[in-house]
Amino acid sequence: EQPLVIAIDGPSGSGKGTVAGRLARKLGFHLLDSGALYRLLAFAARNHGVALDNEEALKVLAAHLDVQFLDDGAGQKIILEGEEVTQLIRTEEAGAGASQVAALPAVREALLQRQRAFCEAPGLIADGRDMGTVVFPEAPLKIFLTASAEERARRRYLQLKGQGLDVNLESLLLEIQARDERDMNRAVAPLRPAADAILMDSTEMSIDQVLEAIDDELAARS
Ligand code: C5P
Repeated sequence: EQPLVIAIDGPSGSGKGTVAGRLARKLGFHLLDSGALYRLLAFAARNHGVALDNEEALKVLAAHLDVQFLDDGAGQKIILEGEEVTQLIRTEEAGAGASQVAALPAVREALLQRQRAFCEAPGLIADGRDMGTVVFPEAPLKIFLTASAEERARRRYLQLKGQGLDVNLESLLLEIQARDERDMNRAVAPLRPAADAILMDSTEMSIDQVLEAIDDELAARS
């Protein structure tokens, strides 16, 4: 029997990362944070002095990306080439780099099998931009989670502030809008809901409310 895949796609700041993590934990499922793969690739490229538009070199780097996702029960730890980079890849800069390399067809192709390999029993929560459209098009439950750009910038602002970082709300909003633009308008696997995805707008919903709404969808299917 095929493991159950739940695809959760949407723009950054929609809450999908938190929702995916909590859902995976609750159901005892595996978790694919596909955005982390693109972030890791951009990070590795910088370490190796590879330009973010060098498609051939990035393709090779993507195919050999030495990364481990460890779960110690308290959360996921990400190790790149032996170095822990869990927090390092979360900066807005790493996000922008990720969105640049993610626009390259050869890079997406190179990461496809690696992403599909996460699909193991009993099931998988797949978090990204194209989980429902490209990577797991046969997933029986697809959620497309959005929120207004202003609300997403506000959440990001509070999150970074909470980490003691000096941030500016205006420039965060501009960065988020630029990244959305690029993700939605690229030629390969653009950010858009699958035809059979369920749209949820979390602008005025808490994480718990989103989880409840997904629970209802799951219950309706079983
Ligand atoms: O989700 P996260 O913000 O970590 O993703 C970083 C970037 O990686 C996104 O802005 C997007 O360009 C890219 N990405 C993608 N496809 C995915 C996941 C992320 O293109 N499935």
